[in-house]
Amino acid sequence: MNLPETDTSLFKRLRFVLVGTSHPGNIGAVARAMKTMGFSELYLVNPRFPDALTNDEAVAFASGAQDILQSAKIVSSIDDALTGCHFVAAVSARLREFSPPILSPRAFASHLSQMHENPVALVFGSERYGLPNEIVVNCNALINIPANPDYSSLNLAQAVQLLAYECRVAEIDEKIGSPEIGFQGKLASSDAIDGMYAHLENALMAIEFLDPASPKKLMPRLKRLFSRTQLEIEEVNIFRGIAKKIIEFKNDTTA
Ligand code: SAH
Repeated sequence: MNLPETDTSLFKRLRFVLVGTSHPGNIGAVARAMKTMGFSELYLVNPRFPDALTNDEAVAFASGAQDILQSAKIVSSIDDALTGCHFVAAVSARLREFSPPILSPRAFASHLSQMHENPVALVFGSERYGLPNEIVVNCNALINIPANPDYSSLNLAQAVQLLAYECRVAEIDEKIGSPEIGFQGKLASSDAIDGMYAHLENALMAIEFLDPASPKKLMPRLKRLFSRTQLEIEEVNIFRGIAKKIIEFKNDTTA
């Protein structure tokens, strides 16, 4: 069966699961963090306050993301939050002796595209205790945000924000390729670029900027400069035009 586009997109497939959250304000801030990045699937496993979703602080911190709070699901076990998920990642500030493979948020996000249309979950721990080992060992990966080793524990909603952002960027890149701004022309061949170098070299010799008896590192440096960009055919033609004019001008003034 072909699911509708919205159900298979990462924005619907990626579930944010909060375990044992204490502060309703954090739950509201998580809803906001998720919504700003386009995510909406929020599960709470045994929050400290059963009315966490309607709590004044949660509502205030959610700001314009009330809809995420309203559709969030409160469940009483981690298994209930993970039903149907094909890949589950524990998000933890603490590395452990026995843990699934450790990924950075970015590595995890880039991995997501390989999971095709399967639901995936990110599991976050409580403010005070983090995630229990029993949950971590059953996950497929452990995501650690590489923070300051002397103070590595982020606020829960900020950890969610960071993961949501990385996943959004990876998803958008995957769909539309690296964002390119504006027009992109055809890339020049290496032969064309070599021709441009030779032409530029002649022009620089004509105006005695380049001394063939002592060329120093001028051409290698210019080549290095150009090789840091991806020259297009039009751009190579512009540089050849400039070189041609320099040589003509020089010939005219010395004639
Ligand atoms: N005192 C807890 C930290 C709780 S912070 C502990 O020692 O584990 C609340 C949650 O935010 C964590 O359970 C984790 O899901 C997430 N988090 C905070 N900092 C993180 C980090 N550097 N890397 C990954 N997750 C982090």
